[in-house]
Amino acid sequence: MIEFDAASYSYTGGELLSKMSLTITPGAFYFITGPSGSGKTTFLKMCYGALLPNSGKLQIFGRDLRKMTRDDIALMRRNIGVIHQECQFIDHLNVTTNILLPLSVSGQEKLNDNLNLKELLTWVGLKGRSGALPPELSGGERQRAALARAVINSPEIILADEPTGNVDWEMSQRLLQLLIELNKMGKTVLLASHDLSLIRLAKSHVQARVLRIANKRITLAGADL
Ligand code: ADP
Ligand code: MG
Repeated sequence: MIEFDAASYSYTGGELLSKMSLTITPGAFYFITGPSGSGKTTFLKMCYGALLPNSGKLQIFGRDLRKMTRDDIALMRRNIGVIHQECQFIDHLNVTTNILLPLSVSGQEKLNDNLNLKELLTWVGLKGRSGALPPELSGGERQRAALARAVINSPEIILADEPTGNVDWEMSQRLLQLLIELNKMGKTVLLASHDLSLIRLAKSHVQARVLRIANKRITLAGADL
């Protein structure tokens, strides 16, 4: 559903990601790992069409990103839920309103039938915090609110950029559990993390594939990880 074919990416400096060829398959669970600064966030940005490869080809849902208009890309993104590294909320709007934002942006007035807001808040454990403002949330609560916001449109793909970066181990496990549940519901999950314990834990619950970024290359890591 996401296909890189000799795709490279550079910011203004030299090449950051070089000639990546790989296919993200539907329903799979992927870890994106690699040292800080290796390009995990950049890779995820390419996966939702926020960055285009400088050379090579990138297809998302079978369509060549370079041939898509801005509107096409905006439409496609409704099918991809993103949990950004810093979560970014609108601070003067409460948790519920923030979670519902992607819906109003995409012009959908109502939640679809299989996704009830109350159930969603309960699922992420924020039922009692629905009226709180983002600055009042703990790190773990913010990440769970960001997760709820990412799935509000019932996307097929969930991209999570180091969601466990600023939370303790117990909360990391809880976030991982939510992502595993989404994967078991058939969602494709891409989770950027350099936490090896988290990767090991995931592997005991789900058939996770580990993509490793190092020295400009992305490779499928062996079973030893
Ligand atoms: P990671 O998520 O693995 O830590 P990033 O993808 O965020 O890595 O960044 C990879 C490299 O690209 C870093 O050296 C970073 O400084 C650089 N970089 C990231 N964003 C930009 C940008 N907008 N302009 C220029 N360089 C950037
Ligand atoms: Mg990053």
